Amino acid sequence: MNVASRGHRLGAEATPESAASLRPSMAAGEVLDTAALIAWPLERMRGSLVVPSQRAELARISPDREILLEAAELEWGTPGQTALSRASDIAATTGDMAGLSSVDLELLALAIERVATLVTDDYRLQNLCEKGGVPWLSVTMEGISSLWSWELRCTGCGAVLPSPEAPNSSRDLGDCADCGSAIRLSRKRD
Ligand SMILES: [Zn+2]
Repeated sequence: MNVASRGHRLGAEATPESAASLRPSMAAGEVLDTAALIAWPLERMRGSLVVPSQRAELARISPDREILLEAAELEWGTPGQTALSRASDIAATTGDMAGLSSVDLELLALAIERVATLVTDDYRLQNLCEKGGVPWLSVTMEGISSLWSWELRCTGCGAVLPSPEAPNSSRDLGDCADCGSAIRLSRKRD
């Protein structure tokens, strides 16, 4: 089973209402990334977990929102060293570490420590959750199905090649057998 269908199923189990509307009782056990802090209604995020370093991030991106959040009754938590190490291990394994912010790493660690669901639209974090067995949800419930839809496609004639069985250690994906143009990994067309 691929990650796309797993991610999909996770989303599908929750009704649209539970994802987007005001159900404060459902908020416990969710770690919210900064996109969720900006997008979600205050009532929806009551009791949700966040890390203190998000405050500075939010103040930079959306100062008005930061002030409003005082009313959201969030639970500010700092993950312990064990959870941070676990999060770092996962990120090192997937190679995502280089692209992670310290806030991202803390969010992942907090979700691990509290056995909570990480709410994020960040593909890298979603990928790490998949690898680490951490449940996740998309902030908007969109994008889940399109996340991992990539295909090998010829830049010339547009021919689509079958997906390789194993990871390719080389960045060179070769040339098209039909027209000789370069093959690229491209976002899958619907
Ligand atoms: Zn071609």
